Amino acid sequence: MAKYVTVQVTKKEPPVVSGRGAERCTECGQPLTAEELKASHRVCPHCAHHFRMPGPERIELLADPGTARTIADDLRPGDPLNFFDLRPYPERVSEAQLESGLSEAFIATVCRLDGRPVALGVMDFRFLGGSMGSVVGERFSRLAHAAVENSMPMIAVAASGGARMQEGLISLMQMAKTVVARQLLAEAHLPFVTVLTHPTTGGVFASFSTIADVIMAEPGAFMVFAGPRVIEQTTREKLPPGFGMAEMQLANGQLDMVVDRRELKARIALTLKLLLGGGADGAR
Ligand SMILES: [Zn+2]
Repeated sequence: MAKYVTVQVTKKEPPVVSGRGAERCTECGQPLTAEELKASHRVCPHCAHHFRMPGPERIELLADPGTARTIADDLRPGDPLNFFDLRPYPERVSEAQLESGLSEAFIATVCRLDGRPVALGVMDFRFLGGSMGSVVGERFSRLAHAAVENSMPMIAVAASGGARMQEGLISLMQMAKTVVARQLLAEAHLPFVTVLTHPTTGGVFASFSTIADVIMAEPGAFMVFAGPRVIEQTTREKLPPGFGMAEMQLANGQLDMVVDRRELKARIALTLKLLLGGGADGAR
């Protein structure tokens, strides 16, 4: 089980395996090398703890080999507020690009999944905490349009600390924008499936990720609008253990299913088949 996290934009994700020489799972303490972890899609083979997965690996996990084509990759964030906290916003973006190898926190692709053409959008928490700014919203929107134009279902994998504060109101606007884009899919009778991964919080939890036809989540993932500390301070009540965890959200009806990452592709393929019919030939 993942521990509670503070909802904030973190610069770097914690180390996946700790210790020198003898590497171990940080959750169960069993021996586990970085190579083994990558081969098991970043799920500990001993305790099934799901570690964070970078966006490109997520695409590798879900897309049929060699079929993914990125769209709207040329979009780059602006700096409409000339935002400066400890450092200028453009400097933070450049650093995130350098460290993650990505141009933004959302990768929009058109690919095949189990033979079926799909629109697949993936968030990457490494990029400024997966925060949703103007480019994340625009790429999501363009992906939804591509799905409608080509009669494809859309899948979005969320991982986010929430809105990107450096873009202020424009960042908050992306909540409405992604919801409108999602509505296009509904009007075209195209399925929209989301996968909430650890963590999915703030403006992403409160927009497209939780208004899908089928909402999936990974085991132990933490998902809330506001963090436990904020809620406890506001309501002056103690929250129950497991608050905001995927398993509790499932029990409360917020999710449709909690799916082990190693079975995720097969489960999405089956869901699309049930909703659309057809099979590996991509027929609808
Ligand atoms: Zn483990």
